[in-house]
Amino acid sequence: MRKKVIAANWKMYKTPDQSRDFFRDFLPLVSGHDRDEIVVCPPFVDLHVAVAAAKNSSVAIGAQDVHWKKEGAYTGEISTGMLLAAGATHVIIGHSERRQYFGETDDVVNLKLKAALEAGLTPICCVGEVLEEREANLTEDVLRRQCLRAFHAISNKKAAKLIVAYEPVWAIGTGKTATPQMAADAHALIRTEAAKAFGAEHAEKLPILYGGSVKPENAKALMAETEVDGALVGGASLDPKSFSAIVKY
Ligand code: PEP
Repeated sequence: MRKKVIAANWKMYKTPDQSRDFFRDFLPLVSGHDRDEIVVCPPFVDLHVAVAAAKNSSVAIGAQDVHWKKEGAYTGEISTGMLLAAGATHVIIGHSERRQYFGETDDVVNLKLKAALEAGLTPICCVGEVLEEREANLTEDVLRRQCLRAFHAISNKKAAKLIVAYEPVWAIGTGKTATPQMAADAHALIRTEAAKAFGAEHAEKLPILYGGSVKPENAKALMAETEVDGALVGGASLDPKSFSAIVKY
């Protein structure tokens, strides 16, 4: 049995004060909840506040991106060492918004994944097709390519820390959700690709989350699929009540 992971992606929302307020309200709602792992990924400037607020809880804190170099003249970027020093344990890599708006390629995703794993961070690697690809029956090809390139040259041992999130881009922030069956099919394909890269034993343990308009109302049906090992939640994670309802689906 894979323990489910419910992760929040706050994107470019919340100041440090707003993050503090979120944890003040959220933590009592999930205290004692140990069925699932909970991860919250706020903007970089909120990491310190979030780590301090979540200190005596079971909530882990992650970042939303990371550079693959240890340090250097890369204005605006952040390193694995900086994230670790801030107390982050997780990092989202290859989110579709980074691919779409910031030109992040499969090869960059691979560099970032390798750097995060090397540093001991737990990467949440996002893959998923855009609407035109789904409509052209290219979903499987896209997922295969993204997984093949993302997983390239990552050792089985390092892959033990990896988390993958299947996020159909047409479902992110749109209110449209993949059906549980669509998610289960995509997850099975991702697991097959992981088995090719890391071997069946590691692939069997790989948590594969679903992301795309997860809400308290649809979380239970999605989580009921045995292939769905949790959720990556954007919009509905900003509110303590709705995120805790998803955690407790
Ligand atoms: C996301 O940002 O990863 C996401 C899934 O967003 P939303 O839940 O708002 O669709």
